Amino acid sequence: MYAEIIVDIASEQVDRVFTYQVPDTLRIVPGMRVRVPFGPREKEGFVIRLKETADYDESKIKPILAALEDFPAVLPELMELAWEIRAKCHCPLCEALRLMLPAEMRGGRVKVKTEEYVRLLIPPERIDEAIESQKRAKSRQMLIRLLSDGQAHPVEELRPMFRDVRSPITYLAEREMLEIIEKEALRAPYYGRADAAIDPALTPEQEEALSELIPALTHPTKPFLLQGVTGSGKTEVYIRLVREALRQGKGAIILVPEIVLTPQMINWFRSRFGNAMAVLHSRLSAGERFDEWRRIRKGDARIVIGARSAVFAPVEKLGVLIVDEEHEQTYLSDRFPQYDAREIAVSRGKREGAAVLLASATPSIVSYAMTRRGDYTLIEMPHRVLNRPLPKIHLVDMRQELRMGNHGMFSGLLQQKLEQCIGEGHQAMLFINRRGYASSVNCRKCGETIKCSRCDVSMTYHSFDQTLRCHYCGEIRPMPKACPSCGSTYIKPMGIGTQKVEEELNRRFPGAGVIRMDIDTTSEKNAHFELVDRFRAGQAKILLGTQMIAKGLDFPQVTLVGAVMADLTLNFPDYRAAERTYQLLVQVAGRAGRGEQPGEVVIQTYQPDHYAIQSAAKQDYRAYFNQEFGRRKSDLYPPFTMMARFLCEAKEMPAALATAESIKNRIIEEFSSSPLYRRIFFIRADEAPITRIQDRARAQVLMKLLNHPDTDKLLARFQEMAGENYPAKVYLEINPASLA
Ligand code: ADP
Ligand code: ZN
Ligand code: ZN
Repeated sequence: MYAEIIVDIASEQVDRVFTYQVPDTLRIVPGMRVRVPFGPREKEGFVIRLKETADYDESKIKPILAALEDFPAVLPELMELAWEIRAKCHCPLCEALRLMLPAEMRGGRVKVKTEEYVRLLIPPERIDEAIESQKRAKSRQMLIRLLSDGQAHPVEELRPMFRDVRSPITYLAEREMLEIIEKEALRAPYYGRADAAIDPALTPEQEEALSELIPALTHPTKPFLLQGVTGSGKTEVYIRLVREALRQGKGAIILVPEIVLTPQMINWFRSRFGNAMAVLHSRLSAGERFDEWRRIRKGDARIVIGARSAVFAPVEKLGVLIVDEEHEQTYLSDRFPQYDAREIAVSRGKREGAAVLLASATPSIVSYAMTRRGDYTLIEMPHRVLNRPLPKIHLVDMRQELRMGNHGMFSGLLQQKLEQCIGEGHQAMLFINRRGYASSVNCRKCGETIKCSRCDVSMTYHSFDQTLRCHYCGEIRPMPKACPSCGSTYIKPMGIGTQKVEEELNRRFPGAGVIRMDIDTTSEKNAHFELVDRFRAGQAKILLGTQMIAKGLDFPQVTLVGAVMADLTLNFPDYRAAERTYQLLVQVAGRAGRGEQPGEVVIQTYQPDHYAIQSAAKQDYRAYFNQEFGRRKSDLYPPFTMMARFLCEAKEMPAALATAESIKNRIIEEFSSSPLYRRIFFIRADEAPITRIQDRARAQVLMKLLNHPDTDKLLARFQEMAGENYPAKVYLEINPASLA
């Protein structure tokens, strides 16, 4: 017997199958991971296929050395998906296969954790006699007493009761009066305890959504896009759908943008499904992730909630795939291979006959356009549960405030609403999409902005430790006392961030209590859960944060939401800036009035006439969609085109630029006489918008490509080009999450 194997080396050169011989002593099936000799070394590999004969000299074929697990780590369906990713993301197959496993599994870096138990082997009727016989060895006597119930007890539990628990255990075990049992211990990644919950009666809109969705569990259909306003009860729809899938003996995967953003979702699911559920995300420890993955693989956990990579979870007999907040850019992988978890969900669902549900209050332009074309089925839930009203939204023109002499960060209206909200004993949430104290530090005399030494971005002032930090590479410097350029001491932090807002809130509302949630306050493992719990318990009246607080959170006591500076995302140099602004504002506004009390929202902006801000204030998705879709069409942006770029990184800019220029010229040379050239709308080589990150100069070849089946041929050729040698390191990106 022979096996075709992909060796786990990420390189275009070894991206093909190698044949190995299967020794009779090994039971090998496709999908298993094995150890094989490769050149002078030993490597890990994936078994792709078994075959009876080899196509070349059998005496030269080396044998597989060992199986790494006794089960196939990659399910057959996922193996097929890996081939698809290889074609779509233009990466070696082994990189696609790596996505299917917890990273820790490769190289055997984590092991199954075991726990030691001991159990008495003495029959009950002879226990008294045994105790008597150990009269002069008090610790043995005590151990026999403690174990006299005949149950297995963890050694760790007994340890505190003895000076040295080992010696009586060893003594009794040697005389076969006791046995030592190794049991697998699972590292459980849950925070706190979930209370059992009862099912609410469904609203008519939820009923109707489910009556469309449930049949899709048995009869494969097109993917669904559920557009439900904030507070319409989408989670309850997911829960009922998943429960029905379970009842039919099928599994479920629920993708959430980022676990830190959705602590409540996990609790809701845990309260209904208990241990049938597993979670997979980047904040787990290596051991936890490994154990959760194995619980899923063994079928002990049939429901998986996780971040984008959970779309590859090894759930067999998959019934439904749900993508919550499907508009989030975190579904686009920012690492290679750059996959889109939504696309994978759709194609995995189709492949495995599972229902696919994308859902959001603010669907992405691309997904909503799919419903217009009839590729997805649209389901709408336009009302909040229990007839709760959507919040009332006020737009405040901050230019007007300036004219009236208000130079502060809060408009008169926001100040007044905050006083009222706190006065009435309710809670408020304030949103500003920038962490740190100030956006930059500028010199009043020469105009210099202090920049990171390794990136071409201004450094952010952090007041709690008086440092300057680079949000791109993490560089930290003490705040200088004088301008590094002219020596003047007139240097000042400009602009605002969460820390400055926090300071201002504490000054204006002493005693109200402010909780700040941003990357800086949530770096500890469970910090985000703890902050959310503290706010829920009412220990602070104001929750302040970045986009981390914009979505998913459900606090019934919150009646006021303020967007301190709505324009921050709008001025981003990205064609999706308007889309992101609309989404963020609607999501953050949706945090208000989720309980008995109706909610109000204050949006502060310098561009009150912008359509993204206008339609967010009216919560009018269709108006926004029509405007944005029209603009994408006239300006030729996705979904009408595809953005592709070669990112070229080098030590110095001339090398990066030269590489970009040469790639551009080669593309023009190679294709200008081909019909494929018509698929390229636009091609340009220049510096990237951020010219330096982590001390690497960045240039780019930016292209807009027509969406057309042919375009794949171009992309495949581009991939080959990207793999060649240049003075700069070259990455090919297709519709990347960031065009910085
Ligand atoms: P969405 O995700 O659509 O913004 P959620 O799923 O967070 O909305 O639900 C909003 C709130 O409504 C939650 O507190 C939830 O417990 C509650 N809820 C959901 N469905 C019902 C129902 N049928 N009856 C009563 N309350 C419900
Ligand atoms: Zn200066
Ligand atoms: Zn930097």
